[in-house]
Amino acid sequence: MKTIIEPFRIKSVEPLRMTSVSERELYLKKANYNLFALKSDDVLIDLLTDSGTSAMSTKQWAGIQMGDESYAGSPSFYRFEHALKELAPFKHIIPTHQGRAAEKILFSILSDNKHDQIIPNNTHFDTTRANIESTGNQALDLVQQQGLDPQLDLPFKGDIDLIRLRDLLEAKGEHVPIVMLTITNNSGGGQPVSMENIRQTKALCQEFDKPLFLDACRFAENAYFIKLREVGYQDKTPKEIVQEIFSYADGMIMSAKKDALVNMGGWLALNDDDLAMKARNILILTEGFPTYGGLSGRDLEAMAVGLEEIVEEDYLNYRITSTAYFGKALDKLGIPIVKPVGGHAVYIDARTMLPHIDPHNYPGQALAIEMYRLGGIRSCEIGTVMFGQQPDGSEKLATVDLVRMAMPRRVYTQSHIDYCIECLAEIHANKNTLRGVDISWQPPMLRHFTCHFTPK
Ligand SMILES: *Cc1c(COP(=O)(O)O)cnc(C)c1O
Repeated sequence: MKTIIEPFRIKSVEPLRMTSVSERELYLKKANYNLFALKSDDVLIDLLTDSGTSAMSTKQWAGIQMGDESYAGSPSFYRFEHALKELAPFKHIIPTHQGRAAEKILFSILSDNKHDQIIPNNTHFDTTRANIESTGNQALDLVQQQGLDPQLDLPFKGDIDLIRLRDLLEAKGEHVPIVMLTITNNSGGGQPVSMENIRQTKALCQEFDKPLFLDACRFAENAYFIKLREVGYQDKTPKEIVQEIFSYADGMIMSAKKDALVNMGGWLALNDDDLAMKARNILILTEGFPTYGGLSGRDLEAMAVGLEEIVEEDYLNYRITSTAYFGKALDKLGIPIVKPVGGHAVYIDARTMLPHIDPHNYPGQALAIEMYRLGGIRSCEIGTVMFGQQPDGSEKLATVDLVRMAMPRRVYTQSHIDYCIECLAEIHANKNTLRGVDISWQPPMLRHFTCHFTPK
């Protein structure tokens, strides 16, 4: 038998509210054509993000019941710490309410009021970049050149460019407090980083005496890509691969809303005693006592169980296969997608798909609007709407206009995805009728969340 099925059955269901095209046209108008302004009740298939949208397992819900809400020293913390150390044996494990809280703490202690620092990464995620920049320091993206070409079908497009990293460390090493790798490379299409690249990055870090930190939100998906694509890993379990990945790191930041299969949570983990002490001091100011760090005891229990489930081979096989299933079907239809399909999302290259729409009329937004209008599917423009707004109010085209369809973990079945494929097939067949949009109102920054659009 070759068919890969969802490795779970459904015990508790969340009904979807069916809506008609004409109803959705009304909702769109009310939302000023900004999909963030929709009520999620009015969305049929919500592919806005894979963050915090995972379905928890029966074991995780049972763990919720076991949550111990003691202020200090809760057994739930020790369960979580034990589960994490099984994969990532960092000396200090510091829970936070989500990933960006860990970033905020890490970068404020690293910067130590200095403003001449450079933190390299394959590609910084937007909150990571913003947290570095808010300390007055520089976030530098050094992903390999191939990682920037959406059409190139290569196995490890998340790899960092080791030559440019070496150049940086040689020229300005004293300004680099840590080196980072984001696994998988979220902002680069969810592309994985190879073990070879992690190993060589670590070797460079050792040569220049720099700690290596992982932004490890999708560590299990990255590990499974290594198993599938990198020589020498076929016979290793995902857990063994994850353990090897973390053996090269001196610290990690994590959004548990991704590969810890929970709806809220995160952590900072590291080996350095002095940094850990400083981190805990800030944690107490902003998040809470170090054994709960902004979370309930029950959240810590759910993370502990999620960390066991995320490295199960059947889960990962289903996860990576089902995302690829969606992408491959679109590719077959001739819809241009970012290749290869990453772990957590399928990205459509809307500027290439809709060449008749001027990029200043946001082909990505036009496609996202049409997916909602026709099929009730919510996706997210990642292009000029999101990145084009300049601090002086002008607009600069983003390098690409993508539409991201992120896959919540264990939430949708194959027939939901078949429905999305059918919707996109119909849009593709009639794509010449799609029109762009104008932005009729925007806030001074981060406009994609709240701006208003008007159809052309
Ligand atoms: C989601 C994410 C973050 C931020 O985590 P939050 O839990 O959303 O605060 C940081 N880095 C990467 C790569 C992410 O995907």
